[in-house]
This record gives sequence, C-alpha cells and structure tokens, in this order.
Amino acid sequence: MAGSLPAAVGFLAEIRPDGGPPLRPDFASLGGRTELAEDTGGQSLRAVLLHSGAPDGAHARDRGRTVVFAGELYNRDELARLLPAGLSPDSDAALVLALFGSYDVHAFRLLNGRFAALVAAGERVVLATDHAGSVPLYASVAAGRVLAATEAKALRAATGGQPLPARPVRRLTGVHQVPAGTVLDVRVSTAECVAHRTWAPPLARRIVSENEAVETVRQVLDRAVRVRTGPDTPLVVLSGGIDSSSVAALSAHRSAGRIETVSMGTEEADEFPQARVVATHLGSAHREITVSMADLLRQLPHAVWAAESLDPDIVEYLLPLTALYLRLEGSGRRILTGYGADIPLGGMHREDRLPQLDTAVCHDMATFDGLNEMTPVLSQISGHWSTHPYWDRDVLDVLVALEAGLKRRYGQDKWVLRAAMGDLLPHEVVIRPKLGVHEGSGVTAAFTRLLTDAGVPDQQVHRAKELVVQELFDHVVVAGRHPDEVKTGEVVEQVAERLASGAT
Ligand code: ATP
Ligand code: MG
Ligand code: MG
Ligand code: MG
Repeated sequence: MAGSLPAAVGFLAEIRPDGGPPLRPDFASLGGRTELAEDTGGQSLRAVLLHSGAPDGAHARDRGRTVVFAGELYNRDELARLLPAGLSPDSDAALVLALFGSYDVHAFRLLNGRFAALVAAGERVVLATDHAGSVPLYASVAAGRVLAATEAKALRAATGGQPLPARPVRRLTGVHQVPAGTVLDVRVSTAECVAHRTWAPPLARRIVSENEAVETVRQVLDRAVRVRTGPDTPLVVLSGGIDSSSVAALSAHRSAGRIETVSMGTEEADEFPQARVVATHLGSAHREITVSMADLLRQLPHAVWAAESLDPDIVEYLLPLTALYLRLEGSGRRILTGYGADIPLGGMHREDRLPQLDTAVCHDMATFDGLNEMTPVLSQISGHWSTHPYWDRDVLDVLVALEAGLKRRYGQDKWVLRAAMGDLLPHEVVIRPKLGVHEGSGVTAAFTRLLTDAGVPDQQVHRAKELVVQELFDHVVVAGRHPDEVKTGEVVEQVAERLASGAT
C-alpha cells in the first residue's frame, strides 16, 4: 500500500441530494484530476481528486458510505491491528472507512497522519483534519449542500455558506477552515454541524531523566522519518541547522547511505558551507540552488497562493522554500524537511530563562492553527509531496510535553535534540546555533528593504508586510488570479501609498 506518493494530495467535493452545476476545481497544487460521482445513501457525492497517478486509492466505498482521503497515514500498522482478522484494506482511504465503521467519528482520534478527509454517509458528511491540520481543509455548508476542498480558492464561487464552528476565511463569505485536530459532523439537509476535537497539544510537562528524554526523542523521531520514507531515494531539504541535519542523518542511517539533499541560498546570504559539512559527512548526493533575491521577491504571490496564509512572518519563512521547490526539476518527489522543530522545542527563543521558554511554547502551540505553515501545497505547486517528521503526532506529543529544562540546558537551545543526535552528526553541526530560514536566505532583510525603499517608515514595516500579504491573498485566493500575473512591486507601491496617506 505504501506507494511512493499519497494516492491523492487534494480534493474538491460536493454533497447534495441532486446533481447540481459542474464543479470548478481551482487549485494551486499540480496533479492529475479525476472525477468521482457516487450515490451515498440518497445524496449525490461529486468530487475532483488531485493525484499523481493512482486516484483509486484516494476513495473507498462500502454500504452507501464513501471516504475521500488526501494525504497519508503514518501509523497504518497500529491501525490495522484494530480491524477484524482477515480484513486488510489496500489504501489509507479503505483503512479509514473500515475504522469509521467501528468507531464512527472517533476513528479520527486514532490516526497519526498528514491528511484531510471527508466521509459521506447518507444525511451525514464528516470533515476531518489531522492533529495539526497540516493538510488544510475548507468548507462551505448550506442547508441541502456541503462543499469541501483542500484549498480555499477552490470554494471561491460557493455561495450561501452558513456559520460553522470553524475559522471564517478572509473575504470568502461563508467559507470556513476546519480547525486542526477536528472533525465536523454535518447534517446535509439542515446544515447543523457538531465539532469534535481529536487532538490538542499537551499542557502538562513530563519530568524524565536526561537519558530517557534523549532516548525517547531519538526513537520517536527515527520512527517518524522511517514511516515518511518511500521506496525511492529520500530527498531532504537541508540547511545544515540541527533540525534538517537530524532528519537527513536519520534518513541516511535508514537508507544505507543513499539520500539526496538540496540547499537554497540567494546572492545575499546562504548556509551552503554549513549544509556541505552535513552532506559530506552523510555522503548524500547534494545540490546547491542559488535564487536571485529579485526572483525570490517576485515569487511572494506564489507563496501566498500556495499557503493561503495571512501571516507575514509565516510567509517570510515559506517564501524561500516555495522558491526552492519551484526550482526542483521533474516532479513527484517525496521531500522530507526539518520544518517545525522550533515550535515544540522553543528554538526561536534565544534567552536562557525557562518561564519565557515555556510561555513561548504554549503560545506557539495555541496559535499555529490556520497559519498553514505545514501545508503540502507549498511543494505541490511544483508537483512534489513534502512531509515534516517533527510534526508527526507522536513526535509532537513527546517534544511539547518535555519539561522546559530539557529543551534549554547547559546554555544550549534544543538541547534534547542535539543530545539525541550526537552520534550521527559532526560536533560542529550538533552545537550550531539556530538560524531561521528567513534569516539564512536574507529574505526578511530584503523584504524590509523593498518596503523602506518604497517609503515605508521603519516602525511601520511589519504592518506594511501584513498589508502586502493581505493584498496578495485578495488577488490570488479571493479573486482567483494566477500569481504570475500579480506583481509584488506594484502591491508594495500601493501599500506604501495607502500607509502614507493614512488610509489604513
Ligand atoms: P535550525 O532551526 O536550528 O536553524 P533548520 O535550519 O534545519 O534548523 P529552520 O531554520 O527552522 O530549521 O528551517 C526549517 C526547515 O526548512 C529546515 O529544517 C529545512 O528542512 C528547510 N530549510 C531551511 N533553510 C533551508 C535552506 N537554506 N535550504 C534548504 N532547506 C532549508
Ligand atoms: Mg528549525
Ligand atoms: Mg523552524
Ligand atoms: Mg535554520
């Protein structure tokens, strides 16, 4: 069942009693498109599946109940043990369908994965995200019809959506984003909707010995890398920081050496020497890709188009990665990243005080939802599937819950991770201070300069970045324009003028 790529990477689906007008699948993600039309116990389900060649594995049907599934599961072996003997589903969709038969909505509490799913069962439509909402899922629900899609722009034309226990999407009336770790159970005829949380970040902190912490982290991270590695040569996006270097090292350890790594930089800044140390140590087939800063900034609309995020800081982190993915030739690679380790480990937090560290972890774990930081669409705009071992459900449960003194220890940030990787990486890599991708590539500085050159005063730069991202969102998500048609420079000029005239 574990092919190289998920059966589907996205979908648009509509459930209503009758047929209705044709679906208008508007996605940033590349992929083949297959249409599905089924009767699901008196309702008509129509869907467009985005896939890379094997759409049949993305849906499963039994007794008037259909599952549509984008993404993949990472605890298949555990899940299979819950099924009656002799039942061996041949896809993640079929596995979810079988579990739903036993557990109903509570099936989603069992899953460790990177997915968005829909279950159509007669009068009911169930919409589910993974624990981290890492594959974004949007819905528009009105009495008599449910529309759901893995990109908000695919619901642009939806009208009449009613309020849901979910986050409204800017300027798409009636469109909501299903929260992370949540199942929405919707009654089609009335649009009544009940939300169930299936995961929440741990609030308690565990006291364990150094040894136990280090061993547990190594073990869960190793497993998370293993279950994310397909039959092909793994490709790791590598900065030479401890997070991605650890993923590359575990991956190389697992794949008997043969892995590929790739680093990006600009003419203004790069981490090439640091990444090279790791690549040489691991013997990976390594590449360096230099993107001009001008080209990078021109692709700001593409980052917003892919991530559908309104947070300027997140967009700054994601822009260099978007640009990197767009420059990977071919398509259909499975990419592993070291993204997201800093959130549960408080890696962005550069001072030596534990209360502040845990405050940062609590804040970030309480506010990540809806930022779309982990979205696969970022790489899917060039047809690649990306996955993040640090946001594996088991890894996250372990990392978040460690007491802060294991995260910051002996004057080091992310101590427990560094200690867990000591034997697989050169010492200089293990002790290398954290450097954010937005810093290492010079993106933050260049975006700031673009704004100040347009006349934005220093103290208004962050606000201006927020307005630029909103404006880009309005173009490429709300209005549905292609990002190649949207000029970063023009949007920056407009925002600078608006700020100068006091119009915001
Ligand atoms: P650290 O957080 O300690 O700096 P890191 O560099 O691996 O470790 P981030 O800076 O948080 O992690 O970046 C997030 C992820 O983005 C990385 O783990 C890596 O997968 C990817 N990444 C960051 N910078 C680059 C780069 N220059 N080239 C390729 N991939 C990168
Ligand atoms: Mg990091
Ligand atoms: Mg990070
Ligand atoms: Mg880094």
